[in-house]
Amino acid sequence: MIKKAIVLFSGGLDSRLTAKLLEKQGFEIHLVFVKLPFGGGCCNDIPCIINFAQTQGYYLHIIDATKGQKFKEYLELTKNPKYGRGKALNPCKDCKIFIFKQAKKEAKKLKIEVIATGEVIGQRPMSQMKEILLFDEKKAGLQNKILRPLSAKLLPETEYEKNGLVNREKLLSLHGRQRIEQIELAKKYKIKYPTPAGGCLLCEKDYAKKVKCLFDYKNPKYEETLFLKRGRMFKNNGLIFVGRDHKENIFIEEIAKKIKWNILVDEEISGPTVVYDQKQDKKLAKKLIIAYRDKDLENREEFEKFKV
Ligand code: SF4
Repeated sequence: MIKKAIVLFSGGLDSRLTAKLLEKQGFEIHLVFVKLPFGGGCCNDIPCIINFAQTQGYYLHIIDATKGQKFKEYLELTKNPKYGRGKALNPCKDCKIFIFKQAKKEAKKLKIEVIATGEVIGQRPMSQMKEILLFDEKKAGLQNKILRPLSAKLLPETEYEKNGLVNREKLLSLHGRQRIEQIELAKKYKIKYPTPAGGCLLCEKDYAKKVKCLFDYKNPKYEETLFLKRGRMFKNNGLIFVGRDHKENIFIEEIAKKIKWNILVDEEISGPTVVYDQKQDKKLAKKLIIAYRDKDLENREEFEKFKV
C-alpha cells in the first residue's frame, strides 16, 4: 500500500524540507496550501509553489480561503479571535486552528492519514512554542496527529510514530530561529527556496490599523480588503482610497469596477484615481484628487483628519 502524507505548505524552506524528509521515508507527498485573505506563511506566490510541486513530483492542493464560506469563517476569527492576538492584529492561534481544520478535511477527502507541518519549536516566539503547538492541534481535533518532522524529537510521539508508519529515528530535533541546519539540508537535497517575503499582513501595525477601520465600518468582501494594500486610505461617510502611482490607480480602479464602487479619474492631468463606496463622499473625493495631484504638501494637511 502506498503511504501518503499531507504537508501543510507555506512555500518556505521549512515546509519544503518537511516534504523531502517524508518523501525519503517513502511517502507520496500531497502539499496543501491554504490561501489566506491577509497573506500568511512565507510565500504567497502561487506560481512558485506550483513550480516546487512540479519539480519534486508532489501533488498540490490549494484551499482558497479568500472565497465563500471559508472567507466568512476566516473573517470572523480575525474579527473576534477566541484565543487572542499577537503583536498586531494577527490571531495566530485561531488562524492555525483554522488551517489545521482545513488540513483535516482534506485528509479525510483524500483518505490520507498523516498530516505534517514545517513548524520548528521556538522559531517564532509567540506561535511556535511547544505548548502553543500542542494547544493548536488539540483545539483542531488533531491531538497527536500533527507531525512536525523538523522538531519531532523534541515533541511527544505522534500516533504515526507510535504505530510505526513514520520512523521517529529519521526525524530531527531542530529548534530556534537560526536556520543554519535547514540551509545545510537544502543544499544536501538540492532544494531551492524563496527568501521570506510577503507573509502575514495582519502582523504589520500600519496595515492592522486599516483592517480595524474596515472591520469597524462593515463586514467586508474579500475584494475590499485588497484596497488596504494599495492606495492611501481615508474614512468619512464611507471609505475612500487614493492611488499613489499609475500601477495603484489601475489596481484600485479594477477592483472598484468589480464591486461597483464609485470611481473618480482625473481626466485632464495625470493625477490619482480615487475610489469610494458612499456617494455622499464625492465632494471629498474630488478635493482629494486635487490635493494629491499637486505636489504642495500644505494642500493635503486639511485631509489628515480623514486619513487612516
Ligand atoms: S502570522 Fe499568525 S495570523 Fe498570520 S498567517 Fe501566520 S498564524 Fe495566521
